[in-house]
Amino acid sequence: MTLAEASVTVAAAEADANQLARQALAEQPITIVTEPPGPLARALIARERPYVSPSLVDCYPLAVRRASGCMVEDLDGNIYLDCEAGVATASTGHCHPAVARAIAEQAQVLIHICGTDFHYPGYGALCERLAALAQRAFAALGGGGTQGWQSFLTNSGTEGVEAAIKLSRYATKRSQLIAFRGGFHGRTLGALSLTASKAKYRKHFGPLLPGVHHATYGVPDSVERELFAHLVAPEDVAAIIVEPVQGEGGYVVPAAEFLQRLRAICDAHGILLVFDEVQTGMGRTGRMFAAEHFGVVPDVMVLAKGIASGMPLGAMMAKKELMTWPAGSHGSTIAGNPVCIAAAMATIDLLEGGLVENSARVGAVLKNELARALEGHAVFEEVRGLGLMIGVELRTPELADAVAQLCFRRGLLVLECGRKTIRFAPPLLLSEAQAKVAARVFAQACTDAARDARP
Ligand code: PLP
Repeated sequence: MTLAEASVTVAAAEADANQLARQALAEQPITIVTEPPGPLARALIARERPYVSPSLVDCYPLAVRRASGCMVEDLDGNIYLDCEAGVATASTGHCHPAVARAIAEQAQVLIHICGTDFHYPGYGALCERLAALAQRAFAALGGGGTQGWQSFLTNSGTEGVEAAIKLSRYATKRSQLIAFRGGFHGRTLGALSLTASKAKYRKHFGPLLPGVHHATYGVPDSVERELFAHLVAPEDVAAIIVEPVQGEGGYVVPAAEFLQRLRAICDAHGILLVFDEVQTGMGRTGRMFAAEHFGVVPDVMVLAKGIASGMPLGAMMAKKELMTWPAGSHGSTIAGNPVCIAAAMATIDLLEGGLVENSARVGAVLKNELARALEGHAVFEEVRGLGLMIGVELRTPELADAVAQLCFRRGLLVLECGRKTIRFAPPLLLSEAQAKVAARVFAQACTDAARDARP
């Protein structure tokens, strides 16, 4: 055997061993061997603290060594059931072999050349695939009378929102924008001007973008009653930007009437309807796009998070007839790089291959299990959501915080949102058995948090 042949054999054996280790972790139950945070997690956090921006949030002291499927292992060997998926992003589960393979193979061939300025297989193919997804999703709704969809690829959700703001202004030649209280659209200054979920996101960052108006989310006539009547003429409005289900604002599912009314307002006044599907899109709600639940076709759609299973990628999609901006009017150096695109293609294969359907099916199981386990519970107000985007509203913010911390210590990863809601946004391959475990651990944490809260 030559040296080259031997190294190929060693690499193959290593790949097999990695694959076995990955599978073994994905099949592990919750296992707490050292009270989290263990010594290695505490040491890492203490060591990095002097060097990292203090704006980073420490939801709970989780320091991850590796992750596979729905399971996450920390530095101290504790194994958690992940019901937050890196903030609703690891859609196909952690390190799905097909996604990992696509990334590794692409990284051997071409990592970067700049999609704004040059061409490579992948960029156009992903845009074509997104167009087909939108076309299929909206066909039953008459397709929204569009000639098709085009996409501008980004590195993140907030950049997608920026692109949507710029395109809306360019296409309409109007300046004003409407968003909603409780909405979250990102942290760059344009997107932040739309974000209105928590005042701390805006504090000391002003002045923000002028011409942004906020109405009440979920109230069908709020735009007309609160804004058109007093603050802004519809003829000046470029876009209404809305999450079809509010994410960071508390996993709030509006009545279909709300989004349908926004569509009608936009049609009546030549305003663009922009759906921020950064969190709700790519199967999260049990449909490819949350818009499908409400029978509303937007003009512009922003995707990110789950689109590439955790690789930095987003997309601002718009109906072809709105993409009036010329060459050079918008761009990005590394957005839509070939490696992220390979991850997105593999992700979409998996979503279409059953994960969207699993999100709907197991999401219903998880919602029922949570409702059943929490029924009559003193801390519990409501469980709501679509697919695997489920919020449990508790009685107070303090209880929500205590429950999230207790869940972490017992091996269940969940995140807070809104004022007092816990969100479940697991990988879309969560099994029914894992959903039942999650509901059980969560209900026990609620019981214990209520007991600890008693004076
Ligand atoms: N829009 C929505 C609805 C989001 O939930 C988020 C992030 O949580 C963003 C935009 C911003 O995305 P990113 O953090 O990728 O910039």
